[in-house]
Amino acid sequence: MGKKDITYTPMMQQYLDIKKDYADAIVFFRLGDFYEMFFDDAILASKELEIALTGRDAGVKERVPMCGVPYHAVIPYAQRLIQKGYKIAIVEQVTEPGNGLVKREVVKLITPGMIMDEGILDASSYNYIGALIQDKLKYHLAFADLSTGDLSLLKDLSDTDLIKQILVLNIKELVLQRDQKRLSERLKPYVLISYTDGRLPSELLEGLTDLPRETVASLLYYLSDTQKSDIKQFNRLNVIEPESFLKIDYQSRASLELSASNGKRQSETLLSTIDHTITALGSRLMRKFMDEPSRDESTLLYRYDLIDELNKNIIHLNDLRESLKGVYDLRRITSRIATKNASGKDLAQLRQTLSRVPAIKSVLDAYQSTLLLDLNQQVDDFDALYTLLNRAIETDPPLTLKEGGLIKLGYHPELDKLKNASSDGKTWMMDFESREKERTGIKNLKVGYNRVFGYYIEISKGNLDLVKPDFGYERKQTLSTGERYVTPELKEKEAFLLSAGEKELALEYELFLQLRDEVATYTKDLQRLSDHIAFIDVMSTLAFIAKKSRYVRPILQKEPVVHVRNGRHPVVEQALEGKFVENHIDINESGILLITGPNMSGKSTYMRMLAQIVVLAQMGSFVPAEEAKLPIFDAIYTRIGASDDLSAGQSTFMVEMLEANEAIRNATKQSLLIFDEIGRGTATYDGMALAQAIIEYVHEKIKAITLFSTHYHELTALEQTLKRLKNIHVSAVEEKHTIVFLHKIKEGPTDKSYGINVAELAKLPKTLIYRADGILKHLEADKKKTALLNLFNFDQVDAIENTFVTKTEEHVIESLKETDINTLTPLDALMLIKKLQDEL
Ligand code: ADP
Repeated sequence: MGKKDITYTPMMQQYLDIKKDYADAIVFFRLGDFYEMFFDDAILASKELEIALTGRDAGVKERVPMCGVPYHAVIPYAQRLIQKGYKIAIVEQVTEPGNGLVKREVVKLITPGMIMDEGILDASSYNYIGALIQDKLKYHLAFADLSTGDLSLLKDLSDTDLIKQILVLNIKELVLQRDQKRLSERLKPYVLISYTDGRLPSELLEGLTDLPRETVASLLYYLSDTQKSDIKQFNRLNVIEPESFLKIDYQSRASLELSASNGKRQSETLLSTIDHTITALGSRLMRKFMDEPSRDESTLLYRYDLIDELNKNIIHLNDLRESLKGVYDLRRITSRIATKNASGKDLAQLRQTLSRVPAIKSVLDAYQSTLLLDLNQQVDDFDALYTLLNRAIETDPPLTLKEGGLIKLGYHPELDKLKNASSDGKTWMMDFESREKERTGIKNLKVGYNRVFGYYIEISKGNLDLVKPDFGYERKQTLSTGERYVTPELKEKEAFLLSAGEKELALEYELFLQLRDEVATYTKDLQRLSDHIAFIDVMSTLAFIAKKSRYVRPILQKEPVVHVRNGRHPVVEQALEGKFVENHIDINESGILLITGPNMSGKSTYMRMLAQIVVLAQMGSFVPAEEAKLPIFDAIYTRIGASDDLSAGQSTFMVEMLEANEAIRNATKQSLLIFDEIGRGTATYDGMALAQAIIEYVHEKIKAITLFSTHYHELTALEQTLKRLKNIHVSAVEEKHTIVFLHKIKEGPTDKSYGINVAELAKLPKTLIYRADGILKHLEADKKKTALLNLFNFDQVDAIENTFVTKTEEHVIESLKETDINTLTPLDALMLIKKLQDEL
């Protein structure tokens, strides 16, 4: 049966017309008190939401699959679907039901990247939606958080950084141009993809060149188009140059345990160790500092200075942190106000937040420090706005807007009159009740009200015979327990009260909307205030941590050298509660530390310690050490431990090599490289050969500061040829045949690997250990493995690389040689070039 033979009912046709434009969303179609879903949407939603799948007659032979959720309970259902990564289009009835079909329209598209609701959002994270445009070999990535009004543009991302950056930012949804098919296929496994063709011009885009501007404009268009409203929360564009921050890719962030990643508990990360911020605003900024550690010396020195100043008076510091308590999520509240989504509760929380500002400012003043006074000067107090809110908004207003309880007495004379009328009404009612009791002599006479019948006098069954005609009672409703009556007086009063009540609610609603619009004119100022509070929260938290955990101010220096006195690993030291063994880290210019030592002795901890100290320093924080001289790094590359799900389907060794390649290709003299046991994933000789070649290559070509741990003792001989390589080891001692780890870093190579001791600790069978010991002695007596110590000239290798021909290249060259140009048509030539290109 062809499609055109099907005639659906008008309503179902209306549904299908809407659905056509929202094919990739689940359409919630408002039908009276329900949102209904049909066809495949219904089948899918009934499964995901575990609700009953039914059917509906739709003018065709077979019933159409249908399921539905009550409109008043829609939020939790919608949340569940969005959290599973679906998009939802909300279709409302936009005309009053009457004759014929009600008009319906999509009023909002809700997607994982476009959640405004505080209930679903994590206070300490951003919820980003991005847009991406390719610019030759680079990409521009715009990203925004609808709930906070943050909008950023990351320009000139390289192809290798693209997916990593999307993962680092945890972008929930990415908007592409419709013609970017290949890009879409590539990114689909990592992020939900949406499309747009439109552009929204905006004054925020002034000064941007073509494609970067288009990127932001397409994101803004998508947001305003799907929100069906102004997106007034976006007032500033933050343009990020990739060179401005310390680069750490997604994989390395996970290995370095910076912030929570798959399978790691929050409590084990660097972020959770230092995030003692008080406000949600501060918590998000702390995460941002960690996601984008700075490379700008003046930014870092300013933050160190602030920490120094803040710590000069611990009482003030405590007061400052105390003054931040009671600050709500001002950025999100402001966004809701700007987009007309704010409730009375939001305005009450704004008022409460503003009430904290004078306290914050007065503590900053009390420090009497120029630096903090300057900071304080940037923080406006919002006296007038606070006073206005305080005069207008009730102490504890409800979430709903149309049921009153929003506006205080004394704010508006007309409203006051209406409010007084209704409270007068209540007094009148009680008065009337006692008058009627007296007049009729019926003791349990009651005056009441219900929505359907309005005001009434209720007489219970037992007293009905006491009702006399001269009372003037008019029967209104019969109950099983008695009768309800009205009198002319009551009816008149009722008319007056109801209209006053209605007017009161209507006026209150209107006044609230006016007030909210007025507050919305402060959007930019309130966003600035939010950012200042966030910054003060983060800096005072870093000061607090520095004091509490004995962190020291880093000394930044131009040369790429590292000197850390008695450094500690910030996360491990917390877990060990004072039992952490402090260690120095000394690396000369472009130096490599080759770290040997038994398993479990502390090699990884030592290497991660440096990485975390570097991240802290470049966030602008003090660091866990007695002294720390550091350069400003441009990137940290790591190859540590087992890899996570990103690399599913690839062998461990392949992942090792891919990560090593990433480091080797991108690292500069200003980078920090951390290689943990590289080469472990393959056969001994292979692994050792590769490890040695990598070390030599880094030493000769890249000259990045490098920590390299290995269990190939043979490599320690490299110290003889590589002049900037230094052997260190983690000490351990044997006591009564068992091994004790001292976790202390010492100069020189380790003399023993203690592998067999560790096996013993693990309680392998005695005979097995005995045999292993025998084999070891045999091998040691017959030792042939040593590093090849004639130093290679890697610049010569460059020449080799240029002439070195792979098997494929060889074939292409052969094909070219064999081609007879004289017999070739131009089309043949083109085809040949294409074929050869495909081969390469
Ligand atoms: P390796 O990389 O040598 O196998 P790890 O760095 O994983 O060893 O350390 C093993 C364990 O030893 C860690 O879980 C930690 O509890 C402990 N440890 C490591 N370094 C120290 C230290 N400096 N002080 C105290 N304990 C440490």
